[in-house]
Order: sequence, then structure tokens, then C-alpha cells
Amino acid sequence: MGSTSKLDPDALPHPSPHPLAVRLHPPAERAVRDGHPWVFETGIRSVDLTGRSDEAAPSEGNGRPAAGDIAVIFDRKDRFLAVGLFDPASPIRIRVLNHGEPAQVGPDLFRDRLEQALERRASLTADPRTTGYRVVHGEGDGLPGLVLDRYGDQAVLKLYSGIWLPRLREVVPTVRRLLGSSTVLGLVSRNLADEPHCPAPLRRGTVLAGQDDSGPFPFLESGLRFEAHPVEGHKTGFYLDQRENRRRLEARTRGARVLNVFSYTGGFSLYAARGGARNVISVDRSRPALRQAERHFELNVQAARDTRHRTMEGDAFRIMDELAGHGERFGVVVVDPPSFAKEASQVEGALEAYARLTVLAMAVLEPGGLLVQASCSSRVSADDFSGRVHRAVADGGRSLVNQHRTGHPVDHPATFPEGHYLKCLFARIE
Ligand code: SAH
Repeated sequence: MGSTSKLDPDALPHPSPHPLAVRLHPPAERAVRDGHPWVFETGIRSVDLTGRSDEAAPSEGNGRPAAGDIAVIFDRKDRFLAVGLFDPASPIRIRVLNHGEPAQVGPDLFRDRLEQALERRASLTADPRTTGYRVVHGEGDGLPGLVLDRYGDQAVLKLYSGIWLPRLREVVPTVRRLLGSSTVLGLVSRNLADEPHCPAPLRRGTVLAGQDDSGPFPFLESGLRFEAHPVEGHKTGFYLDQRENRRRLEARTRGARVLNVFSYTGGFSLYAARGGARNVISVDRSRPALRQAERHFELNVQAARDTRHRTMEGDAFRIMDELAGHGERFGVVVVDPPSFAKEASQVEGALEAYARLTVLAMAVLEPGGLLVQASCSSRVSADDFSGRVHRAVADGGRSLVNQHRTGHPVDHPATFPEGHYLKCLFARIE
């Protein structure tokens, strides 16, 4: 059980009682009217600070807007449009909390959103075989920039924007009460960690409430035993978004040799094993991730009893090429790389990388073998991704059959275009 330094509540800023009045340029106004949760810096026409003085809002010092200030957005006829939280450090300058009608920003709103989020996940909260899942998926659950994952008795709260820092005092007790968590661990995104006002313990990960425990956090997913490493790991310590794709894989691995590249801690590998795979190879360039994959097999001896599992550390592109060169063939290949396009300018390069991976996967797939290929780049559309994979297969003189495309699972609701990051393709390659 790791321990973290405690966060001194005095290190957190206080919410300003003085809302900002914001007016937008027409395209941004239209987007907000249509329910979009983001207002970009470039969409803002004016920010009205009237009524705010140094005396009234001492925490802001010079009266300039601070992270987490309430932003009331008015349309060009001065009618109420939306209310959100202001983030002076991000190009996403306002994240909208409520569209169309005013809302009191405070503990009641956070409680309501959390209760609605739990209701949306009723299929998961009622399933004793799955105790690790996402409880709040930011914008998709009306709490933009905030992620809350449950791992058994523990919860991990991850902030992607400084707007939540002044609200943590209100949010954390609500989380603990509704989830009954023994520990609420706090993490921040890399962007937020780089901001000067981010309290140092949060940069490293810190316990926000409950027992001093920074993980690993044990949990079940579909009856399999896993451990999340929130502080050292990716995201909040596990790729919870792939649960349904893993289940789909499990039903298709009986007797197969399975290659899982970009395996991280072996989520897909374990399901393949329980599905009856004869062999599973997990490939990743991260040694700690592969160690954890081995640990996950040790935790699931019974489920993986029919399977020989082995790990290979290194570059997935190179390893696939070498396996092909050695004549190795697999009945199933899973390809789930990290995001290749963080910016619009990288989209074409990302599509080329997906095509290269498809070609490499085809070279190690048996005839009629199953390709499972995923993309988590939100800038790459599902159609472009699938189109590029198809072209790569066709260029190789082969064809896709029994094709199936999947999107977001219930605990990662995608409610606006930029929110659709995850897509996955299942297909036999003839
Ligand atoms: N499929 C995983 C999640 C994959 S995340 C799951 O279900 O949990 C992407 C993984 O790719 C990370 O573990 C990262 O270490 C690894 N990675 C990134 N670039 C790589 C490369 N060039 N070769 C091998 N692994 C790589």
C-alpha cells in the first residue's frame, strides 16, 4: 500500500462569489445554444468584470478572472444562454455546466450530477463481478474536465482543468458519501500539473479523503481480478474504456494463439486466456506494464489455466515485423495503440500509422484470423479510421469479413463530437 503526502486544504483556492458575464462571437454562441460544452478562447467577445473589486474578491488579487470563476454566458440580446466555469490557462476557456437555464453551482449540483451518473451506470453498479468502472466521464456526465473512477472500495478523482480546484472541498465529500469509498485519491492531468497554481501534492497524486492509500487498488472486471496503479499508471491506472471490447474478444479466442500488441497491463490478454486461448503474447515497450500483466495472470490462475502467457518488451512495430519474419502466425491479433494524433496536424500521420499496423498484423494473422484494431485518437473519426484499415487490407490483396465496429461503453458517454475518441474494429481477414 503506497502512501502519499496529504493535501493541505488551505492550499486550495476559494471560489469567487462574483460571477463573470460573458458574451460570445456568433459561431461560439451557436455552438453553446446547440449544447456544446466548450467555449474556446477565440469564441469569446467580452468578459465583464463589473462588480468585482480587489476588496470583493481578494483571492484574485488584481480582479482578473481566476480558474473556476463562474461564467454566466449571455446571448447577443442579453438573454441567459449557459453557465460554466472559467479557465484562464486553457484554450478551452469555459466549460459549460448547464445549458438553457441558470443553475446554482455548488454541492447540490455536484450531488445531482453524480447521482445521475450512477443511474446511467445501473448495469455496472448492479454487477458484483465488475467493481472497477468509470463513474464520471467529464463532459459526458455534466461535470466537464472531471473524471471519477471506482476501483472496488477506492475512488480516483482526476482533474483535467484548474476549474475544479476551488470546488474540491465541495466535490470530495459528495463523492465519498455517494460511493462509500474508503479512499479518494486525487490526480491531475499533465497540463494542470504544469500550471503554477496547482498544489504540489496533487501533481504527484494525493489522498483527498479517507485512508492514506495510493494503490495499487484491486478490483474486478467481468469477474477477472485486476489492480490499478493510479499514481504510476496511465489514465487513473487502468484502461476501463476497453471492458466491452475485451468481453467481445473473450468469446472468440478458444484454442487460438493470440498476439496482443500495446498490451499495457494485459487487459485483453486475460480475457483471451479465459476465453480458452492456447497461447497469448503481450507486447509493450513499458517494462512495469508487462510486469503488471504477469501479475494479473498470477491473480487469475484458474481463469488462465488453459493458456501459456508470455511477454515481449519492445517496439510493437518492430516486434510484429520480426514475428512475421520468423514465420509466427496467430489466430487473433489485438492492436490497441496510444493516441497518435494530439493535434489536427498529426491526423494524416496517425492514419498512416494505423495502416502500417494493419499491414503488420495481416502478416502474422492466419488465413481467416481475427483482427481487433482500436484507435483512441479523438481527432481521427471512426469512418476515417475504418476506411484506412479497409484500404490497407485491400491493398494487401485480402478482404475483411464479419466486420463489427464498436464505440463507447456505457460508463464513457460521448455527448459531443470531440468526445468520441474510442473506436474499435473486429474483422476476420480472408
Ligand atoms: N490495450 C491496453 C491499453 C493500451 S495503452 C489495455 O487494454 O489496457 C497503449 C500502450 O502502448 C501503453 O502501454 C504504452 O506503453 C504502449 N506503447 C506505446 N508505444 C509503443 C510502441 N511503439 N511499442 C510498444 N508499446 C508501445
